[in-house]
Amino acid sequence: MPPLVRISEIGRYLRCPRLIYYGNLPRKRDPEHLLLHSLMLSLSDDENLAGHLRADLSRLEQELPLVYEVEPREIGLACSDLEGRIDEIALSLQPSLGLLLPCEVEVDLRSERLGLSGRLDRLAPGRTPSLIRTGRAPEEGVWKRDRLMLAGYALLLGEKYQTKIDRGLVEYTRSGAVRAVQIHSVDRGRVLRIRDRIRAIKEGQMPDRPEGAMCERCEVRERCETSVTLASRFF
Ligand code: SF4
Repeated sequence: MPPLVRISEIGRYLRCPRLIYYGNLPRKRDPEHLLLHSLMLSLSDDENLAGHLRADLSRLEQELPLVYEVEPREIGLACSDLEGRIDEIALSLQPSLGLLLPCEVEVDLRSERLGLSGRLDRLAPGRTPSLIRTGRAPEEGVWKRDRLMLAGYALLLGEKYQTKIDRGLVEYTRSGAVRAVQIHSVDRGRVLRIRDRIRAIKEGQMPDRPEGAMCERCEVRERCETSVTLASRFF
């Protein structure tokens, strides 16, 4: 039986298929992204949401350097920066709290039959998969990568609960926007096709460099450029 493909690998493939070829390299965690993600995991329906988030922020400032490889100074700076935006984030989040809570967070899912596994950020009411995103939100709707990752989690949840999950959420934490998305069959099918491509890449098939790949900030740029140069010497 081939190893299970993680939903995070589907996201990585959508960033660039070659990232799968190079495997998981240790990546420095961005302190602000780490803080935003952790803040959302401990979300509560406290009437004073901004107060709750602030209290959490100072707890995380102490705890995160103990758990992750991040400098206390870097976390401190990111906390001060976020502190000034907490009111705005809380104001945007407040109307969506009913969609997100009560919930389970960091839910491990796996299915041998689907050949997929993953850790879902939040299982929101109505067995709704919800992703926490710490980057920029699109003008409207959700990014394609987020939609397809949700489709992957919907497949896993559907298998677990023997039902069809056709709706998901994306929490764009930076702006406090929570966007709902319809999960269509075509996206479920795409996820399974990507799963097969990931398996083929892991077996040694080097994918082409996609057009418009974001190579400038890529963590494997040096290795990737070297292998392209070597390959071009042979062909
Ligand atoms: S350097 Fe560019 S082509 Fe290579 S893995 Fe990174 S994003 Fe993909």
